[in-house]
Amino acid sequence: MVGIRKEHSARKSAAAKAPANASRNVAVARCMCGAVRLEIDYPAFWAWHDHSEASRRAQGCAYATYVGSWKSRFRVVKGAKSIRRFDDKGAGSTRSFCGRCGTPLTYERARSPKWVNIPCAIFETRTGREPRYHLHIGEAPEWAYRGEPLAPLKGYPGVMWERPGRKKRAPAALFEAGMA
Ligand SMILES: [Zn+2]
Repeated sequence: MVGIRKEHSARKSAAAKAPANASRNVAVARCMCGAVRLEIDYPAFWAWHDHSEASRRAQGCAYATYVGSWKSRFRVVKGAKSIRRFDDKGAGSTRSFCGRCGTPLTYERARSPKWVNIPCAIFETRTGREPRYHLHIGEAPEWAYRGEPLAPLKGYPGVMWERPGRKKRAPAALFEAGMA
């Protein structure tokens, strides 16, 4: 209840034209079901795309985009009891997620104890950082979308597809095609 009241008064005090987080200088994130709310002081330290196999599996997506913050600038605003943790001892990392809806929440590494990484996708306000860096790009899967040209799929509004015959070719195959 306290959290709800706090949120309400913060919303009331925000100027009408200002973004939701402007008055408190924080970036707010939440899980899909809303049980967990997180915030970091604005702006985040940096943001990047993580193409590693570990993050791909943990988040169930082609690559994960993270926002990094000092732990001292990070807070669980609501739902601490709903947070579940998984320690990956081999990798020396801990990942947390909402125990109710499964949304990934944080990613911490033992060798960087003062840092916490949060999926950019769960923020509902601006984080103050653009993801301009690509980590572990060598681990990206061959099926990941890399900006190949797309065309509308006839009869399916809103669906785009990659036309066949435009697959990326290995340099050797290109060379052979050129020689033929
Ligand atoms: Zn949830």
